[in-house]
Amino acid sequence: MAEYKTREQKRKFYDGKAWKQLREEVKQRDHYECQECKRQGRVTIDTNEYSESAKRKKIQLVVDHIKELEDHPELALDMENLETLCVNCHNKKHGRYVDYSLWRKKNKWADDERW
Ligand SMILES: [Zn+2]
Ligand SMILES: [Zn+2]
Repeated sequence: MAEYKTREQKRKFYDGKAWKQLREEVKQRDHYECQECKRQGRVTIDTNEYSESAKRKKIQLVVDHIKELEDHPELALDMENLETLCVNCHNKKHGRYVDYSLWRKKNKWADDERW
């Protein structure tokens, strides 16, 4: 079975034809809407795909592996394991974005303890 542990392996996968094709299919299936935003009652569409004004807003969609590629290589090309997310939600999911207000709340007492 293929493995996607190293950067090189992942890059190869994301560069591959199979992925690029599937990615488009998933976006189409999801109507170019962020599924996470949708779950929260918001609608974020990839305006890139549609119009110039959308391009200016720079809303971007990524197709995400619900179960991480690294941990579930067997689901790499399984549409059931893929969903469309906007960049914001994707970053959140992977912890690349810190909601500062939340973080402060959560850590308020932890800080007190430390001092
Ligand atoms: Zn979103
Ligand atoms: Zn992801």
